Amino acid sequence: MKRADKYAVFGNPIAHSKSPRIHALFAASLNQHIDYEKRLAPLGDFAGELQRFFDEGGVGANVTVPFKRDAFALAREASLRAQQAGAANFLMWRGDHWYCDNTDGAGLVRDIETNLQVTLKDKNVLLLGAGGAARGVIGPVLLRSPKQIVVVNRTANRAAELVAAYENEYAASALSVADLVDKGIKFDVVINATSSSLSGELPLPDSAEVIAPGALAYDMMYGKQPTTFMTWATRQGASRVADGLGMLVEQAAESYVQWRGVLPQAAPVIAQLRAELASG
Ligand code: NDP
Repeated sequence: MKRADKYAVFGNPIAHSKSPRIHALFAASLNQHIDYEKRLAPLGDFAGELQRFFDEGGVGANVTVPFKRDAFALAREASLRAQQAGAANFLMWRGDHWYCDNTDGAGLVRDIETNLQVTLKDKNVLLLGAGGAARGVIGPVLLRSPKQIVVVNRTANRAAELVAAYENEYAASALSVADLVDKGIKFDVVINATSSSLSGELPLPDSAEVIAPGALAYDMMYGKQPTTFMTWATRQGASRVADGLGMLVEQAAESYVQWRGVLPQAAPVIAQLRAELASG
């Protein structure tokens, strides 16, 4: 029997990663066989670990913190969205070189528009954060034609740098946290792309009034309980709140279809992971 195609997720740390579970569920749902493992790459030697994986027959990889920029740098061919992000979470061997992509934005957009049924077109969107996750999603969100996107980050100049690549072509601007609070603008979709919830903090002052009636508040982080940001947004009147589990599964589906030519159904896998989180 032919050996199963070999994939992996690279990160440091990596023990927590749900990617092997997600891809195993995708493969089972499609009656396919794949070999997908976690690989702890040493800090400073992503390239060496990727080479070892390739030597063992690896043909595709997902990449997580802190190696997304390294993955982009060593791929000889990159999708436009990876170029825009300057970072890649997806690698695929193409005959004689690695091709890279960034599927985070597609994952977020699909979770918001398909799973949560919230259209981004003509909406006022607030993007909190200017790190790797924000870089990965801003381009794909802008392609959905929001009315405007405002990027706000704790370190204000990082938000301005991020927006600089888009502001000539799109309705994209950056504000400091203080200016955002002063202006009192309200947003229909508020996306938390910071890691603030990891430490139980908020990316904005508790009193900031940025949530429009009927708004969706989306935290890219996820967990067993609603995140700090989700709890705050509910208090501030958001009609809907969501965590990033759907994005995680959807960015994986976007990887799977590129490697294997078939798009797995994400919804049953999101439901399965949600149940496993609740009982875990
Ligand atoms: P980075 O380290 O690249 O960026 C962190 C960002 O969070 C920066 O903008 C930083 O601001 C901001 N930040 C950190 N702590 C705070 C705080 N206490 N208050 C306000 N801002 C803060 O991380 P990533 O961009 O890669 O990841 C961000 C989050 O998104 C993580 O929680 C990650 O797990 C999640 N994520 C989820 C995905 C999914 O599929 N669901 C995919 C990718 C990421 P500053 O510039 O001032 O330091």
